[in-house]
Amino acid sequence: MQAVKEKIALIMPNHLGDVVMATPALRALHKARPGAEVHVVIREELAPVLAGCPWIHRFWPHRVYATRSPWARLAQRLALARALRGMDCVLVLPNSFSSALLAFATRAPRRVGYRRGGRGWLLTERLPPPRENGRVVPLAMVRYYLDLMGRLGCPEAGTQVELFTEPEAVRECDALFERHGIDPARRLVCMAPGAGFGPSKIWPLRYAAEVARKLLDQGLQVALVHAPGEEALAAEILERTGSGLVSLGGAGMQLSLLNAILARASLLICNDAGARHIAAAFELPALVLMGPTSIRYTNMNLKLTRILREPVECSPCHLKVCPIDHRCMTRITPSRVLEEARAALYDESWRGDLDLELRV
Ligand code: SF4
Repeated sequence: MQAVKEKIALIMPNHLGDVVMATPALRALHKARPGAEVHVVIREELAPVLAGCPWIHRFWPHRVYATRSPWARLAQRLALARALRGMDCVLVLPNSFSSALLAFATRAPRRVGYRRGGRGWLLTERLPPPRENGRVVPLAMVRYYLDLMGRLGCPEAGTQVELFTEPEAVRECDALFERHGIDPARRLVCMAPGAGFGPSKIWPLRYAAEVARKLLDQGLQVALVHAPGEEALAAEILERTGSGLVSLGGAGMQLSLLNAILARASLLICNDAGARHIAAAFELPALVLMGPTSIRYTNMNLKLTRILREPVECSPCHLKVCPIDHRCMTRITPSRVLEEARAALYDESWRGDLDLELRV
């Protein structure tokens, strides 16, 4: 008789960077439970970033967040929970009450997550979030998710974030490069000027254009990679930069294609947003322009990531819109970014902020 496979569902985080930072947890689960069936519940638009991941047996993409009405959202969650009946265990990676409610509604006998936001009663196994002096404090998300996996009895199997490129996405990338005249044998600098979090994380577009222009004038290939919905932002940078800059993103861009593009690039310049984590997964040097957020959520996998920030008294504020003059980002100058870009591209001794990883 064939043994019944253990079925484990993971409710994935709702932001691109967090999904990538959950990949060491997925790997730990796979190594500890090689016979288990792993189901991933994830926002539809984020699923392609995990395309080709050999540790996932089935995706459950959903559009709950695209639904405006709270009742319609609840109905979708309940339908999803019904579809997930039969799971032996559900791991809840996000901190929201609604994600714990979804786990509860699946009726899985084990429901594992952090105890916060009054949702402990929905879970069968609860982890206390990290605290200092009674207050919840930031922890690198890679570690946060791994600790949850530890609760399930899955020891850590490395902290490196990991993604994969699918042959179809690689072919699409080849065609895109050819269409835009990008020579894959030459250095390509990608710039990701957006941030889904909000405008407070976005480096001034005029600065981005200045950097793009100077890199092009140095004979480098430069491409914008931007998410669907960031077309206006990309259009402004394209207009300010002038000839030579190409746009590889926008409407219809799947994250599997972004994986393939960044796996081929020589350097990424971006804000503190999802693309930086994809770069880390493909060991692509990255310059991250960081202002309003705390490094303590992301201070892992910095071997080839350099964090550029300015010491301002109001940071980290974690506000989506800056209530003052956005000094945390405007004080990061184009000349500093260009100097770092030059070092990352041509200086063989250049490294990321590993010391920051150990210090913070
Ligand atoms: S309040 Fe300070 S840290 Fe927050 S966005 Fe504005 S300048 Fe940046």
